[in-house]
Amino acid sequence: SVLSASQIREAFLKFFEERGHRRVASSSLVPQNDPTLLFTNAGMVQFKDVFTGREKREYTRATTSQKCVRAGGKHNDLDNVGYTARHHTFFEMLGNFSFGDYFKSDAIAYGWEFVTKTLGVDKARLAVTVFNGEGGIPWDEEAFELWAKQGVSRDRILKLGLKDNFWAMGDTGPCGPCSEIHYHQGDDIPCAEVSAGRQCKGVACDCDRWLEIWNLVFMQFERKEKDAPLIPLPKPSIDTGAGLERIASVVQGKRSNYDTDLFQSILSRVSELVGKPYTQEGGASMRVVADHSRAAAFLIADGVQPSNEGRGYVLRRIMRRAIRHGSLLGLDELFFFKVVDRVIELMSDAYPELRDGRTFLLEVCKHEEESFRRTLNRGMKLIDEEVARMKQSGEKVLSGAKVWELHGTYGFPWDLTEIILKERGFEADIPGYEKLKKEEAEKGTDEGGISKDKAIATVHLQLLERLGPTQFLGYEGVGHEGEGS
Ligand code: ATP
Ligand code: MG
Ligand code: MG
Ligand code: MG
Repeated sequence: SVLSASQIREAFLKFFEERGHRRVASSSLVPQNDPTLLFTNAGMVQFKDVFTGREKREYTRATTSQKCVRAGGKHNDLDNVGYTARHHTFFEMLGNFSFGDYFKSDAIAYGWEFVTKTLGVDKARLAVTVFNGEGGIPWDEEAFELWAKQGVSRDRILKLGLKDNFWAMGDTGPCGPCSEIHYHQGDDIPCAEVSAGRQCKGVACDCDRWLEIWNLVFMQFERKEKDAPLIPLPKPSIDTGAGLERIASVVQGKRSNYDTDLFQSILSRVSELVGKPYTQEGGASMRVVADHSRAAAFLIADGVQPSNEGRGYVLRRIMRRAIRHGSLLGLDELFFFKVVDRVIELMSDAYPELRDGRTFLLEVCKHEEESFRRTLNRGMKLIDEEVARMKQSGEKVLSGAKVWELHGTYGFPWDLTEIILKERGFEADIPGYEKLKKEEAEKGTDEGGISKDKAIATVHLQLLERLGPTQFLGYEGVGHEGEGS
């Protein structure tokens, strides 16, 4: 029988537990020890200080299933969502970590054993990558030979450069080459390169033909100062990350993460509400709703609330995108909380914070949708009029002032306006909008933002009275988006 995603998650953690790893709980999506990082975007985030040696733990091997969000900040996959079969705003990253304990040879052996033996993935469909030596850093011959020793044929060990196969914590600190495991999904999958008359770039291509499932980082160097030469670390470390949704798609024989059990139940809830079946073709809006409902559920459960700045604004952008897609699907009544409720039902066994926060979570979703619904149609009407006018006049770019008006008067986040215009073949002057936003902030007259934040604060207080203090009180938003690892 085919493994469910929950079974894969458990199998992974158990595999590494049996090999001496401490099973550590996922940390919050709001990084506790890194104010510059918008959201936790990888399994290693909660171990940063352990890797640098600033913090000691009573174990030297750990394994986690880490909640991650990649929306906003350095890793921003938001625009891919719904359009690639493999990118989500929220996803679970399975990982094993060695803090100066085992290194490359065990990490490679474990990875290969788990994928090919435990999960039974067909070796003929796998390829791996190693660092090619770009930028004067030695190429990773050691990893190449270790993969070959596992039985990977030499023509399936590919050499890639700094962008894909070298990792660094920042300008300074630990860094090192990495190896990725890729799965061949099929050459009949559309590829933008091929459509443009070029060759598919295989494992290095942006298309879905080769799917990156697991990244193994070999932290073996350290950079003391920016651009300084690399110094070998006396005790190298291991940091790996494998996307559960992607592993599930491989194990369950699906070409899209959305066809796995992690998404089927959410999509069927969306399709039930819409009254139409979900299909791969033409299903982008349903996929966006499904993806964003997970992100919203987990972010709110970790204490983020929709607002007009920092983390809260990223959440608001995610929720309003979803609500707008719901509206495109013909959903005129409040629907988002219903989809989020399905996420809670589906994921609470693995992440009990969803169940614990259910009432609050659903209220926040309802409130956000109510407030956006009040202006959504009028904002869309304004965009329609502007598009018609631009068609007449031959303009291509919506002015920053209009983007600002859509934000302030109609609650349209700038990136939502930008996407809607893009869909119609137009652009939006985002720098112009940013300039206005800055000017207004200096004058202190961002009324739209302030009044909405007040509304949220009120709702929060009302809920507090009703539900009592919760874990959600601890969070205070950061003022700006930071750059992550
Ligand atoms: P890609 O090249 O496909 O964007 P990545 O190289 O950015 O992935 P890593 O930073 O290496 O990803 O993260 C480790 C693993 O996490 C990846 O191998 C993949 O399985 C998974 N992953 C990364 N980004 C996402 C995402 N947006 N949604 C789902 N899974 C992801
Ligand atoms: Mg990426
Ligand atoms: Mg990659
Ligand atoms: Mg990678």
